[in-house]
Amino acid sequence: MLAVSKTKPASMVQEAWQAGQRAFGENYVQEGLQKIQDCQSLTDIEWHLIGPLQSNKCKPVAAHFDWVQSVDRHKIAQRLNDNRPQSLAPLNVCLQINISGESSKSGLNTAEVKSLAEAIHKSMPQLCLRGLMAIPSNTEDDIKLAEEFKQMQGLFSQLQQSYDTVDTLSMGMSGDMALAIANGSTMVRVGTAIFGARSPKQ
Ligand SMILES: *Cc1c(COP(=O)(O)O)cnc(C)c1O
Repeated sequence: MLAVSKTKPASMVQEAWQAGQRAFGENYVQEGLQKIQDCQSLTDIEWHLIGPLQSNKCKPVAAHFDWVQSVDRHKIAQRLNDNRPQSLAPLNVCLQINISGESSKSGLNTAEVKSLAEAIHKSMPQLCLRGLMAIPSNTEDDIKLAEEFKQMQGLFSQLQQSYDTVDTLSMGMSGDMALAIANGSTMVRVGTAIFGARSPKQ
């Protein structure tokens, strides 16, 4: 389980850490970097970027995060690779899939996954391809949601057959985690159900 601490203070991360949680997710680069710094004394902690990433922010992200789940184009992958310090283990990455097909959403379409996965595997040694991430349609329709999760599961198992580093299918949030797990999720990203409601974004 990834605890999504976006908009929540470092003190809440610390509280969750004391309860045994180790993996935390942030959406916004600036906020995430600040929180990573504020939580430096917490050992064994793991930070995942799950929000949109622009190429001019790749350098600090590659230096301070452990995972980036929102890799959605070649240029971003390349910059993360090029900026990952040699002294650190390769940065774990997931490819973000636009499973709903909505044009407003970021992510690769299913046809683009193979070529980016191959490029990472072949020529980006400072990245470790761990799997796929998706944000499904914003709908209450469980049938539609389950269809999208199943599509992700299919794509994930294809990828697993090609690369032995692939072990992560990141899908499911507070409202749909049970359905996501039933359809093959290996990592749920839970914010509200752990930390409470977020105030509307400023
Ligand atoms: C905010 C966010 C979550 C957590 O959502 P909740 O509904 O609060 O559990 C998960 N994944 C992504 C990409 C998010 O932006």
